[in-house]
Amino acid sequence: MKDSNCIFCRIANGEIPSTTLYEDEDFRVILDLGPATRGHALLLPKEHYKDLFDLEDEVAAKALVRAKRIAGRLQAALGADGMNLVQNNGEAAGQTVFHFHMHLIPRYQNDHAGILWEPGSTTPEDMEEVRRLVEGQ
Ligand code: 5GP
Ligand code: ZN
Repeated sequence: MKDSNCIFCRIANGEIPSTTLYEDEDFRVILDLGPATRGHALLLPKEHYKDLFDLEDEVAAKALVRAKRIAGRLQAALGADGMNLVQNNGEAAGQTVFHFHMHLIPRYQNDHAGILWEPGSTTPEDMEEVRRLVEGQ
């Protein structure tokens, strides 16, 4: 399904022009308009899925294989020192466009891109509680 009100559906299907790094029958990879670093790209499925949990397993599997291939090319082409794959689900997690996408973010030594987190703390009791809650699902 495609959603004509969804900007990423329109970009993925070529109705809105984008700088495209890769395209096949299922996906388009474009450059992000507000890049965290040089070469920050987005992998978009051509069908509309609002987030990871909406994806069919087969599409999810293909998405990671495509992301791996294009991320490798990006890193080599730009001489990046590393690569973050980031994928946000839900407003609380920073998702702003509700069409599944994966961020491919080339990283450069000392680029100061604000992607990583400060490590917090936990306790053995809470770790055990989390494990039991997940097991109960
Ligand atoms: P999210 O916060 O949902 O994980 O990521 C949305 C991303 O899409 C952001 O990095 C934002 O810069 C990018 N973005 C939003 N609108 C457009 C657009 O029209 N074109 C492109 N190329 N990127 C967009
Ligand atoms: Zn869409």
